[in-house]
Amino acid sequence: MRNLVLFGPPGAGKGTQSEFLVNHYNLVHLSTGDVFRYNIKSGTELGHLAQSYMDQGKLVPDEVTISMLKAEVEKHSEAEGFIFDGFPRTTAQAEALDAFLMSRGHSIESMLSLEVEESELKKRLLARSVTSGRADDADEAVIQNRINVYHAETAPVADFYKALGKFKSIDGLGSVEEITTRLVQAIG
Ligand code: ADP
Repeated sequence: MRNLVLFGPPGAGKGTQSEFLVNHYNLVHLSTGDVFRYNIKSGTELGHLAQSYMDQGKLVPDEVTISMLKAEVEKHSEAEGFIFDGFPRTTAQAEALDAFLMSRGHSIESMLSLEVEESELKKRLLARSVTSGRADDADEAVIQNRINVYHAETAPVADFYKALGKFKSIDGLGSVEEITTRLVQAIG
């Protein structure tokens, strides 16, 4: 089983690159943001709860996110592996993912970290808001909050995978194809 974590700040290109990688390696794409947005659209209780955090650029509480993620993994018992996109976003989520995969006899192969500077992230998110219809992309204050939350709560997750020798840094600037090539090389 090949389990990859695609890591990086909001707007780094995780979703865009996942589209290619899932086809190339025959993996299941698991984006926690996408699952929350699907629940919001479907009007579920989980969606209602998640929206109150997402609208402010805050993280949905770990307990809720972790149990949702486990349920999603369990839906795909035939999967050859997963690309985790937007998860884990806290050290507690990383620890929970590790324990959960281990209980199933699996593990994370590597964390691929897309590195993009802050001014470029803001530009990309504002541009994306035109087509995504995402309220959290259209508001500069919410974007800034997401970036702040990334530095405070999510960036430390890299250390978790560095300690395991699984962290790989990828330059996230360039054309979509150039970045894809770098990712494929890093995955090996
Ligand atoms: P982006 O990477 O551009 O911020 P996502 O779709 O990954 O977009 O996430 C959108 C929002 O969904 C986040 O700002 C957060 O509120 C919520 N979210 C997504 N993944 C998680 C997670 N693993 N833990 C907590 N909240 C999450």
